[in-house]
Amino acid sequence: MKLVLVGCPGAGKGTQAEKLSKHYGIAHISTGDLLRDQIARGTELGKKVSKIMEEGGLVSDEIVSSMLAERIKDEDCKNGYILDGYPRNLAQAEGLEAITGPLDKVICIDVDDNVIVDRMTGRRSCPNCKEMYHIKYNPPKVEGVCDDCGTKLVQRKDDNEETVLNRLKVYHETTAPLIEYYKGKGILATVKGVGDINEIFAEICRVLEG
Ligand code: AMP
Repeated sequence: MKLVLVGCPGAGKGTQAEKLSKHYGIAHISTGDLLRDQIARGTELGKKVSKIMEEGGLVSDEIVSSMLAERIKDEDCKNGYILDGYPRNLAQAEGLEAITGPLDKVICIDVDDNVIVDRMTGRRSCPNCKEMYHIKYNPPKVEGVCDDCGTKLVQRKDDNEETVLNRLKVYHETTAPLIEYYKGKGILATVKGVGDINEIFAEICRVLEG
């Protein structure tokens, strides 16, 4: 199964992709995570993209698409994958099926902008086991510490208010047109991304299996 999740930053794509990955036994590919990994490892590519990412801009299509093409060769992708954060613009969408072959479904997770800033600036994650938290809506038992593995939680550099607003602007100008694009291809389904995480997940599964 080859899936794409679209939706504004903070819509819950990463959370749902993780659950879908476990449920269907397919890989979760987040181009943002792949890029952050390059930055953390201090590679040349990481150095090239870190400022763009800190400001909430988009990394060049060439860099991201070749990274994706490499990633899908990995063993864990043999049953399929969920793309989270790719494609981000029409050029990437138009080139995507040349990399992946036909997509089964594109799920749009729909959330209003007015809840996004609050959601994202309160986001924290565990750098070790990747568990996600929110300081208000899903706090860890001990402040700043992962419930599962005890690691100190971190905040993404681009989850500050100024950058979030810029990421939303980039999303509406550049990424949102993909919704019409995939509607036109007849493979788009839209799911409301507000409310209980497990109910949103169940709705996505219904769309995929229905
Ligand atoms: P994300 O984790 O998906 O929110 O992505 C974080 C940042 O990584 C974005 O703000 C972009 O700077 C960069 N990025 C991730 N995916 C892409 C993509 N498909 N095209 C261009 N830039 C990307």
